[in-house]
Amino acid sequence: MAESVELPGRLAILPFRNKVLLPGAIIRIRCTSPRSVKLVEQELWQREEKGLIGVLPVRDSAETTTVAPTLSPGVVTDSADRTPKNQAGTSESHKHDGKNQQEVIHWHNRGVAARALHLSRGVEKPSGRVTYIVVLEGLCRFSVQELSTRGTYYTARITSLDMTKPEMEQVEQDQEFIALSRQFKATAMELISVLEQKQKTGGRTKVLLETVPVHKLADIFVASFEISFEEQLSMLDSVDVKIRLSKATELVDRHLQSIRVAEKITQKVEGQLSKSQKEFLLRQQMSTCMMYLSFIIQMRAIKEELGDNDDEEDDLTALERKMQDAGMPANIWKHAHRELRRLKKMQPQQPGYNSSRVYLELIADLPWQKASEELQLDLKAAKERLDSDHYGLVKVKQRIIEYLAVRKLKADARGPVLCFVGPPGVGKTSLASSVAAALGRKFVRISLGGVKDEADIRGHRRTYIGSMPGRLIDGLKRVGVCNPVMLLDEIDKTGSDVRGDPASALLEVLDPEQNKTFNDHYLSVPFDLSKVIFVATANRKQPIPPPLLDRMEVIELPGYTPEEKLKIAMRHLIPRVLDQHGLNADFLQIPECMVKLVIERYTREAGVRDLERNLAALARAAAVRVAEQHPLPLSKDVQRLPSPLLDSKLAEGAEVEMEVIPMGVNNHDISNAFSISSPLIVDEPMLEKVLGPPKFNDQETAERVVTPGIAVGLVWTAFGGEVQFVEATDMVGKGDLHLTGQLGDVIKESAQIALTWVRARTTELKLSTEENNLLEGRDIHIHFPAGAVPKDGPSAGVTLVTSLVSLFSQRKVRSDTAMTGEMTLRGLVLPVGGIKDKVLAAHRYGIKRVILPERNLKDLVEVPATVLSSLEIIVAKRMEDVLEHAFEGGCPWRQHSKL
Ligand code: ADP
Repeated sequence: MAESVELPGRLAILPFRNKVLLPGAIIRIRCTSPRSVKLVEQELWQREEKGLIGVLPVRDSAETTTVAPTLSPGVVTDSADRTPKNQAGTSESHKHDGKNQQEVIHWHNRGVAARALHLSRGVEKPSGRVTYIVVLEGLCRFSVQELSTRGTYYTARITSLDMTKPEMEQVEQDQEFIALSRQFKATAMELISVLEQKQKTGGRTKVLLETVPVHKLADIFVASFEISFEEQLSMLDSVDVKIRLSKATELVDRHLQSIRVAEKITQKVEGQLSKSQKEFLLRQQMSTCMMYLSFIIQMRAIKEELGDNDDEEDDLTALERKMQDAGMPANIWKHAHRELRRLKKMQPQQPGYNSSRVYLELIADLPWQKASEELQLDLKAAKERLDSDHYGLVKVKQRIIEYLAVRKLKADARGPVLCFVGPPGVGKTSLASSVAAALGRKFVRISLGGVKDEADIRGHRRTYIGSMPGRLIDGLKRVGVCNPVMLLDEIDKTGSDVRGDPASALLEVLDPEQNKTFNDHYLSVPFDLSKVIFVATANRKQPIPPPLLDRMEVIELPGYTPEEKLKIAMRHLIPRVLDQHGLNADFLQIPECMVKLVIERYTREAGVRDLERNLAALARAAAVRVAEQHPLPLSKDVQRLPSPLLDSKLAEGAEVEMEVIPMGVNNHDISNAFSISSPLIVDEPMLEKVLGPPKFNDQETAERVVTPGIAVGLVWTAFGGEVQFVEATDMVGKGDLHLTGQLGDVIKESAQIALTWVRARTTELKLSTEENNLLEGRDIHIHFPAGAVPKDGPSAGVTLVTSLVSLFSQRKVRSDTAMTGEMTLRGLVLPVGGIKDKVLAAHRYGIKRVILPERNLKDLVEVPATVLSSLEIIVAKRMEDVLEHAFEGGCPWRQHSKL
């Protein structure tokens, strides 16, 4: 509860039927009427900042006839569709235009401004009724000047009834007020003592009594009693603090007396009570406990607002207990305890207090000994799990099983760290999590992508402001056990700069000899990492520093063939995507031929991530279509808050008639909510509608290799194999070579070598007849699209030569042929890496012929037979062999010689 709240001039009004919200009270309500739902939606749900609303008590029309009017005049309505009926003269009433035209609303003219502490929204089944559950906190009293409607709900022009600070200061000097306060506090204190005795809790609540202004305390106490509507109204009307205090004292006293009487009766008659009588008494005691709990909660909320910290000592005791329970080694306990003693001597406002506390919290949270119990490893079950989670990858799974088998025989085996290397989306992460599942261990992923600072791994020393532990210690804190499977993701993306070398810290982590005493700078005490099973992933092997690579066993996962992707999609991705969208095969079917089209036309990746994304787009579209064709999808339960206390205070008065308000679809419930006659079957028009026009086709290379000077290369990138076009052109100039396309040093040198080789063979190649200098009066420009992607490596050598020969001979290169290979200055074609990925990439692009270095022939065993059978593989020993096969009808010079 804020000290003083700035109220706006107008508030949206939520009517509370036969119920009053007092300032300081926290109440949970369910709004179901169209009016209140709209109000909550517009005033609270859709607003980003915390909105205020006014809660105004209304009285049932039936009751107005039996109780004396407590309502005041002067409230008017400007609503045209409502008939003002100020029958009682002192009360405001008017007709509802809902279901019951005759229902008359009797407004009270004083209310309480409230703010929402928690909101949850739901749709009920099968009616489709939208409801909100709102936890409201009463802030301060206001009086209504004028009531009107905004759309469907009411708003009111209001004035605050809270006293200003000077007014309050003046009242506090008043002798009568002082006496009343004293009396109230004494009674309240007595009640608290009785309740605390019953609850067997320490005497902290009494301290709280001293910290909250007494006029607010009065409201809070009364709010937690179960008293009649009339008494609640009269408390609300007690704007004068003296009246409020005397009323509250009376109610507290009454409550106290009733507890005492109940106790006496219990003691006297306990032995003679019947079962139902005992139950009644128990219920009475329960309600007293509830009241106490409610009181404590409200007090705490206020205390937090006031920034009070007399809980500090207890928090430190709790922290100490947590530290004792953490099971840390003796030497670390000694260190931590010393720090705790230091903390205890400090004032919370003192610099360093917070950092010291956060540090100790971390020490207490770390899993020094807590470990997940390792299952007796069942290799057969592990294999089944790997098989059921992943299609194909036979060799990889076999290696994982071997790894697990060794662990089974020797649990503390210091085997190498597994490192899955491959393009994105090939299943590296999901394989690692399957390993964790097979071992029955928890799984935690540490992302190392872009880590350049050693402190990211080892943490910052505590002397720095904003220091924190490194990612490993943080990961262990998150996972809460000391023996998880920890995935060091993208280990190839760590780099080193002036801030140190993360790789050297990782070296320590992965070294079984050193990681028993891993030193995090922030933690400043050693932590034993030896129980952690590390698994790493990388897109490429080359960037991993050799010492680190030496500690790991690399398992390569090349990309998938289209056939493999199809199987993965049909068996794993589609069922998962449907499930994630709350659909099943009764709603959406994606035939195999359509998945094939998605693979061919909308993805060109080594893994299956884009494929999964496209399938998800289809599922989303289907979900919308299903939802559009049917009435509202309905969810069964409104999200519930965990607090039983607040549940018990659900104000039924706030629940009125119902109305269906359209809302966003909760996909998870679609399949439960609809019965559909026939499933939606994805066809080509739907593909185009949802995924757009096809992004890729087989004709791309033919379309791009249209003029002499363009050759198709095969390169290896972090995303797997790729087709790389090389474009060469010439223009008037001074014989310079221009290179563009974000090229690295190695590829630039390859271009130089290529040009030199071609120039040296001008005559043999019959590229120039008159003069020997190819570059006479012209510049050469070679470009590697796409210009934004950095490229490097020697394997474009043969492609560069081919494009230059094509340019100078003015003959087009075959568009169905792609090539890869490094070339020496003498024209020898040297082997290159990533053959399987490159061949797969060529296959993806619909290329028919691939020229490879002869010494790479052995690598073809890794390429699936289905891919090989659709390609003509040509091996080259020398550059002339490449040229011979790159041009239609053979090498240009042969054609010349034939002429
Ligand atoms: P990575 O870590 O290699 O980038 P992920 O492990 O995140 O890739 O895989 C991306 C998605 O593809 C995941 O949903 C994963 O389950 C799925 N996936 C990849 N390979 C396979 C496979 N062989 N069988 C089944 N699903 C696979």
